[in-house]
Amino acid sequence: MHELNIVAHIVKTVEDFAIDNRLTKIDTLVLQIGELSGVIPRYIEACYPAVVEGTSLQETKLKIEIVPGNAFCKECNKVFNLLQNDFACPDCGRNDWEILCGKELMIKEVIAC
Ligand SMILES: [Zn+2]
Repeated sequence: MHELNIVAHIVKTVEDFAIDNRLTKIDTLVLQIGELSGVIPRYIEACYPAVVEGTSLQETKLKIEIVPGNAFCKECNKVFNLLQNDFACPDCGRNDWEILCGKELMIKEVIAC
């Protein structure tokens, strides 16, 4: 499963970060997941407990923030949400647009105890 590898990679990154910064315990891990990233947040949440089991992140809470998949229309400059508008501009109906945000998958914050 795609999400399992992603979670494993994130957990490893955060563990390394914790060691480098001498953090003994991390309270919360905050991820930002874009609507257009192809990553499904509830799958991330589902894999997380299994991945952190037995690691230094075992007690760490996971928080996910969703970044909207927005684009601007190259025809009329309207900014709109791609998913909510079926990938077409709600004002002029064109689908000639450029993505502004929503493709990201980022570790936004690591909150120590
Ligand atoms: Zn438009």
